[in-house]
Amino acid sequence: MTYDVAVVGAGVVGCAIARALARHPRLRVALVEAQDDVGQGTSKANTAILHTGFDAVPGSLEARLVREGGRLLAAYAAESGIPVEEVGALLVAWDEEQFAALPRLAEKAERNDHHATGLIGPADLYEREPHLGPGALAALHVPGESVICPWTTTLAYATQAVRHGVDLHLNSRVERASRQDDTHVLTTGRGTLRARWLVNAAGLYADTLDRHLGHHDFSVTPRRGQLLVFDKLARDLVRHILLPVPTALGKGVLVAPTVHGNVLLGPTAEDLDDKRATGSTADGLALLREKGRRILPGLLDEEVTAVYAGLRAATEQDDYRISAHPEQAYVTVGGIRSTGLTASLAIAEHVTGLLTEAGLDAGSARDLEPARMPNLGEAFPRPYQRPELIAADPEYGTLVCHCERVSRGEIRDALTSTIPPAGLDGLRRRTRARAGRCQGFYCGAAVRALFEGVGE
Ligand SMILES: Cc1cc2nc3c(=O)[nH]c(=O)nc-3n(C[C@H](O)[C@H](O)[C@H](O)COP(=O)(O)OP(=O)(O)OC[C@H]3O[C@@H](n4cnc5c(N)ncnc54)[C@H](O)[C@@H]3O)c2cc1C
Repeated sequence: MTYDVAVVGAGVVGCAIARALARHPRLRVALVEAQDDVGQGTSKANTAILHTGFDAVPGSLEARLVREGGRLLAAYAAESGIPVEEVGALLVAWDEEQFAALPRLAEKAERNDHHATGLIGPADLYEREPHLGPGALAALHVPGESVICPWTTTLAYATQAVRHGVDLHLNSRVERASRQDDTHVLTTGRGTLRARWLVNAAGLYADTLDRHLGHHDFSVTPRRGQLLVFDKLARDLVRHILLPVPTALGKGVLVAPTVHGNVLLGPTAEDLDDKRATGSTADGLALLREKGRRILPGLLDEEVTAVYAGLRAATEQDDYRISAHPEQAYVTVGGIRSTGLTASLAIAEHVTGLLTEAGLDAGSARDLEPARMPNLGEAFPRPYQRPELIAADPEYGTLVCHCERVSRGEIRDALTSTIPPAGLDGLRRRTRARAGRCQGFYCGAAVRALFEGVGE
């Protein structure tokens, strides 16, 4: 069979695009992913901030799509049960030079259509963040900056797409792409797929796929960001996302709460050659601890429950690299570097627009049935806290992972869901089982038994 559209890459961007295309019932859509689950690339390892876009390059495509995407995703999260906490951000100035930069950042926010930022002095700042390290001079308060669950977001898009007819091809790395008789022929590890239109959302490998199609417009440099995750006991130390004043080298190291009740410290920004270098390094973690000590000294006394690293798809330009090639029935979605989670829904709308402008006859659109996702957020009642749910189904009251309070019912639901996990890591992203302070030391065997069906 020949699909109307094949989307390569099931990260947050590819899944959002597949979901947008699923609104058109006449389209047969394939979502093609190299790995054994959705959201296994950069989309699983980021800082999980739902940006307002206040600090984007004004007038850039990224600025527009982050601004629009942030609003769209906030509404989508409310509809789908994706946990979001609007904690706001504080851009903290630690010296005179940074202090002098704050008004310029406020002006930039204005140009990015964010009109609610405000400068605050040290007294107000320390009242808002009593655990902040000594010596902060002032801050720019940015209301609206939020934290979100990145895993639930990608999974919600993919779930909705699949429920509305998109074929998800996992374990199907596209090794070659060619065109025969106006049809794209994709050679994957699991056979050949054909499609009239092709969307390249391959993240770090978007440049490679682009070259298969004869384009040499950009190269992706993996820019590693290492992060430390602190235990839930650290959560009370911080109320906002604490951002540094950005430099030419990037946005710098931040401290942020997570919707799962932890605290993040990171990320680093290291340009590498290896697109698989997602390991953490002693130097990277030492640098983070040094920066963290200045921002929030008490944080360093807390336990670290995990470290991880993600790779941003940086290119030669400070903007996304989204372009249509109508003559080839092809759209490239490259360079979605450090804001793709936030912008995902707006990118999807933009790409759908490019496809139809280029000649894709998508037919009429319908509203999609909302996907109600399981809540992994601490600010909202989890199943073990809901007596009515437990009364109806006692499995929601039987805890398997005690650190994260994950019930047997939630694990069962994940294993029988529209896109079940292929392994224990996928199960963790869906339920948080094994993600707590013991990292599976106590519950690992029980979780594995359920995953393997022994605990039925
Ligand atoms: C440290 C860090 C912090 C970040 N913080 C934030 C943040 O706070 N807020 C925010 O909005 N964004 C943030 N981002 C950016 C965000 O995570 C990315 O922009 C987003 O995840 C990119 O999604 P994607 O779908 O383009 O890429 P990916 O998630 O990498 O997906 C691409 C997919 O394509 C697949 N693929 C590749 N080649 C092939 C092939 N040949 N055949 C089939 N499949 C293929 C891959 O396996 C992968 O699953 C951060 C990124 C990093 C690294």
